[in-house]
Amino acid sequence: MSKKCLVVDDSKVIRKVARHILETLDFTVDEAVDGRDALDQCLQTPPDVVLLDWNMPVMSGMEFLRALRQSDLPVRPKVVFCTTENGMGHIRAAIEAGADEYVMKPFDRETLESKLQIVGLA
Ligand SMILES: [Mg+2]
Repeated sequence: MSKKCLVVDDSKVIRKVARHILETLDFTVDEAVDGRDALDQCLQTPPDVVLLDWNMPVMSGMEFLRALRQSDLPVRPKVVFCTTENGMGHIRAAIEAGADEYVMKPFDRETLESKLQIVGLA
């Protein structure tokens, strides 16, 4: 059965690019437009992995990580968060908040695949 990835980003373009890459890696893909949407979906049907944007309206990536950690999901999805060169300072905070890995935007197929391998999913 294919693994499920929830792509969380307020940019429709980024979601589309990520979906395309993930589908070529045989993932089933769902999309969320912000952290709140992502949290709701995770509580309903937890994915294997979440690809998480940092800056989003309504609920940011960091707020999502904190909320996910406080949830009582029996198995927490892996989280790979996306950052930009300007956001490199966020990495430590994100890992401390429960992220498993990070990937720099813009990412390509090879980079994303290697990060998914690191968290045990590709
Ligand atoms: Mg964003």
